[in-house]
Amino acid sequence: MMKLVFATNNQNKLKEVQEMLMNSIEILSLKDIKCFDEIEETATTLEGNAKLKADYITKNFGYNCFADDTGLEVESLNGKPGVYSARFAGEPRNSENNMKKLLSELENKTNRNAQFRTSICLNIDTKQFIFEGTCKGEILTKKQGEKGFGYDPIFKPNKYDTSFAEMSSKEKNKISHRGIAIQELVKFLKNY
Ligand code: IMP
Repeated sequence: MMKLVFATNNQNKLKEVQEMLMNSIEILSLKDIKCFDEIEETATTLEGNAKLKADYITKNFGYNCFADDTGLEVESLNGKPGVYSARFAGEPRNSENNMKKLLSELENKTNRNAQFRTSICLNIDTKQFIFEGTCKGEILTKKQGEKGFGYDPIFKPNKYDTSFAEMSSKEKNKISHRGIAIQELVKFLKNY
């Protein structure tokens, strides 16, 4: 069975991908390959950061590998916070402060359109492939719901009446940026 490293230690992400691959490929985490290095995300694009992480593992550990990076792109803020979504309100990273900052920057704006975008970089047998998933929606004026993480309480996907934080993870994964990007990756791997 092919072994493929997912450059993450996020158990939710690992479980989601492994379930979708239905055991046709063995997914290994960073911990599984004993990589405890802090891989710096210094690129200025999502694709760049995904590539940086995947390349680090392939170069230093010799595995086929994929990595993801996600950002929230707000139309009236010219795509901000984008690649800086995790640290929008500075370090240490804090979702509450990030949401507060975003809501305050949008206070007087009527255009609240936004999208989450995920980029996945796959290194396989010396070749490199990029997969992408987007989820369009809008930024609410206040937090709604308790589930999920990050900006979920203030993001409402188009055609839904609820925020991401009011959806079950199963419901969210079906339409989310990361869910779609992973579906693209899985489709590719099944035909590989
Ligand atoms: P990462 O690349 O998956 O670590 O995502 C970077 C940042 O984007 C996170 O720290 C969150 O603030 C935000 N983010 C990513 N995915 C989601 C999501 O599905 N819901 C809400 N926020 C997210």
